[in-house]
Amino acid sequence: MSVSTVAATDQQSVCAPLPVLGQDVTVPLVTGGEVTYAALDYAASAPALQRVWDDVAAYAPYYGSVHRGAGHLSRLSTELFENARKTVAGFLDCRGTDQVVFTRSTTDSLNLLARALPAGCQVFVFETEHHASLLPWRHAQVTCLDAPRTPQQAVRTLELALADRDPYGPALVCVTGASNVTGELWPVRELAAAAHAHGARIVLDAAQLAPHHPVSVRDLDVDWVAFSGHKLYAPFGAGVLAGRADWLREAEPYLAGGGASRGVARRADGGVDVQWHDGEARHEAGSPNVIGAYAIASACTALTEAGFDTLVAREQHLIRTVREGLAEVPEVRVLSLFDADAPRVGVISFVVAGWNSAHFAAALSAEYGIGVRDGLFCAHPLLRTLLGGDPRTRGECGGPDAAVRVSFGAGTPDEHVERFVTAVGELVRNGA
Ligand code: PLP
Repeated sequence: MSVSTVAATDQQSVCAPLPVLGQDVTVPLVTGGEVTYAALDYAASAPALQRVWDDVAAYAPYYGSVHRGAGHLSRLSTELFENARKTVAGFLDCRGTDQVVFTRSTTDSLNLLARALPAGCQVFVFETEHHASLLPWRHAQVTCLDAPRTPQQAVRTLELALADRDPYGPALVCVTGASNVTGELWPVRELAAAAHAHGARIVLDAAQLAPHHPVSVRDLDVDWVAFSGHKLYAPFGAGVLAGRADWLREAEPYLAGGGASRGVARRADGGVDVQWHDGEARHEAGSPNVIGAYAIASACTALTEAGFDTLVAREQHLIRTVREGLAEVPEVRVLSLFDADAPRVGVISFVVAGWNSAHFAAALSAEYGIGVRDGLFCAHPLLRTLLGGDPRTRGECGGPDAAVRVSFGAGTPDEHVERFVTAVGELVRNGA
């Protein structure tokens, strides 16, 4: 199913939230008493699924070193680690020849790919990207594309930029699947088609997409996908880079060390010769984070079993509650790049007239026990565009403007978003 058609699937009855950790945490309120904490900052880090926690707890006592021991626990851990790779490959619907490399996070995955670019590679990236997608390519020749105001314009902008490039050199497009600021979905399949039509490759930053929608490497026809476990209900310090093997196989290892090397010999002249592995191990030097990989696989299985159609329908219901609630408050401006009907995930940023965003977020926490995020969300040029500034302004990093972001997902009860909507209305009525 494509990203855009999934977003339109909104007819199913709404299921119960999936059990996650932290649902019974109570926090004191400045107004007295206490309340159950409402974690509405899933876009930063989502709470662990209970199922992930249980799986990790069941495995943790048998933890052993991966690929390094003949003992029972070491072999068990190696098997779980390699099975986790297969589970992730299935979750992403990878091609048979793709590699699944375990990393620390999306940022780590994209930096790994940046190190693996062939010589002379041109990189195309929209200025709207999260800094994790915008910055790793700094040592390549980067073309930063203007923020589009429609998905169609995004495709057109990319096509024009690619038409101008050296058609014989390697090129890579890096694009996000769902914005960490507006929650809007990007036309990934169309961008991939445009990239391929011009001989370029494409990497999908699925940090915000994978927790909310099925991601099919084959169907979207992307060359690589990156995502983070801690946004996918598996907060154990691991991430994934999955996709084509060739650039990864030809590159120097991301980290040099044990595990990445097949053979090492002292040379007669005093130097050291190394033969690196060709497979995923090439970029996984050192003892890998087996619990993190296992947790990601557990989350992939749990989400698949719950069914994305059901999860999407539930999330769309929560999105409607929040957007309709915020629309009732004239002082609130929701930030969008595309138009209001654009398909989106449960990530909504807004500004409140008369309020400083940091104060507003602090008041939500102190007076209502609601955890949201405020700031520029590691997307400074995008925030400047959305807040009316010039994204090309130089020498002005950061800045005073900021927004509030509410984000939610598979574990969010209705009560949390309803409390949030009530709180926004009350805070605005009561004044800053
Ligand atoms: N890409 C997007 C769209 C994100 O929202 C984030 C984090 O918020 C990242 C990349 C970076 O993820 P991580 O911090 O897990 O590396």
